[in-house]
Amino acid sequence: MSDPKHITHWIGGKPWDGVAQRRGDVYNPATGQVSGTVDFATAADVDAAVQAAAQAFTTWGRISLSRRASVLFAFRELVKRHSGEIAALITAEHGKVASDAAGEVARGLEVIEFACGIPHLLKGGFSENVSTGVDSYSLRQPIGVVAGITPFNFPAMVPMWMFPVAIACGNTFVLKPSEKDPSASLLIAQLWAEAGLPDGVFNVVHGDKVAVDALLTHPAVGAVSFVGSTPIARYVYETGTAHGKRVQALGGAKNHMIVLPDADLDLAADAAVSAGFGSAGERCMAVSALVAVDPVGDELIAKISERTRKLTIGPGSDTRSEMGPLVTGPHRDKVASYLESGIEQGATLVEDGRAHPVTGAEGEAGGSDGFWLGPSVLDNVTPQMSAYTDEIFGPVLSVIRVPSYEAAVRLVNDSPYGNGVAIFTNDGGAARRFVSEVEVGMVGVNVPIPVPMAYYSFGGWKGSLFGDTHVHGTEGVHFYTRGKVVTSRWLDPSHGGVNLGFPVNS
Ligand code: NAD
Repeated sequence: MSDPKHITHWIGGKPWDGVAQRRGDVYNPATGQVSGTVDFATAADVDAAVQAAAQAFTTWGRISLSRRASVLFAFRELVKRHSGEIAALITAEHGKVASDAAGEVARGLEVIEFACGIPHLLKGGFSENVSTGVDSYSLRQPIGVVAGITPFNFPAMVPMWMFPVAIACGNTFVLKPSEKDPSASLLIAQLWAEAGLPDGVFNVVHGDKVAVDALLTHPAVGAVSFVGSTPIARYVYETGTAHGKRVQALGGAKNHMIVLPDADLDLAADAAVSAGFGSAGERCMAVSALVAVDPVGDELIAKISERTRKLTIGPGSDTRSEMGPLVTGPHRDKVASYLESGIEQGATLVEDGRAHPVTGAEGEAGGSDGFWLGPSVLDNVTPQMSAYTDEIFGPVLSVIRVPSYEAAVRLVNDSPYGNGVAIFTNDGGAARRFVSEVEVGMVGVNVPIPVPMAYYSFGGWKGSLFGDTHVHGTEGVHFYTRGKVVTSRWLDPSHGGVNLGFPVNS
């Protein structure tokens, strides 16, 4: 086995050359072996990154829109050219299969492409003659230094939801990626430098709570974007706003997929298996609660079981694999524990992922020690069971049987989460009513993972989002800018004279 690689921060346009006081292990989930060690930043290291970003803002914040756009276009070309390498880094540290990693980079690229249109996105309004001889116009200006704190499950795409828009708007950025799969962020930093982004505009600090807290309390950080689990999202929102920052904190999820009796059950079964087990269920938009409206349960589960058994589980780098390992050993064990607790609480284990064969791991050194867990289906789950109340974040599909459309909607709307939801039906009227009634931020109609395009905004409701703005799209542009309205009058002798009254228009 080769020596673990050393992963460090990227500050002021180059790798950090200090000596870390603390480090963390990075694993290859397909072998269970340590593949790297990542430096953990202290508050002083975070301060160095923020200072570099603050210094860079003094020029980047004023640079012309066309220059910013040209750097974005160059970056877009480089990310596209290196997308295979970025995807390979993701597979090596996250474990997801190569096609899935490539898909994540492709969705991130769409946000970069959206940000290339920044001259258009920042256009303000102008009203001539709002009062006699007076004009008004609006501007949106960058905030300054902004931070992004991101989860393990999309080590390239989720950061790309944030920094292309933030940087295009004229801000400078400090990224704190997940310590579980940190390498992709450094290749991205190099590509920014190659694209001509001035030093200090994009920085990466690695680490854990120490680094996050340093960002949340740093007086020079003006805004924080966070994506991760709900308890940490709430903490980030409360701490960041208490320190005077603008915060958008996207949290966890429990996404429901409702299948009405008139749905095409083959389509629904394909969708449930794809959305439940893709990326080993480690997606915030994964379907984890399948709501079967009577009488479709038995037939739908039979179709899902048949498809689940055929899935090929193996290393993400093996083109035969449809699903890879889970990200860490403790996470795999926690996900597997829901199968036992589900059975104890009265659910029926229809498919047991612990018994699912792993293909191709034998060939890898220590392959059998990978963090494997195949796809599982738990039937007869009730809203009181932990398999339903908890975000499992793994390849476990819980089936809840309900008697009616109304019961299905009630179940979804009673959930503390509100990230994504899907309905499968051939009844346009039912679908339309559902879209209107459901209390969830992203809704799919016969589409199981309704991730919005880059020019719309991504985000949930309720416990899936703390703050007011979703990410990317126009809400992203608003989050990373402050509005200013200018009212101007040029000298006109007819408007002279003192007037202590409140300005009224004439
Ligand atoms: P996590 O909350 O454990 O970690 C997210 C980030 O917070 C990481 O950078 C981590 O280092 C940091 N962090 C962890 N513990 C912290 C603490 N105590 N104090 C301060 N910072 C801390 O999440 P994860 O396990 O990396 O990712 C999975 C979670 O992310 C799931 O809950 C998933 O639903 C969620 N997620 C949500 C979305 C969304 O759009 N809503 C998207 C992707 C992932």
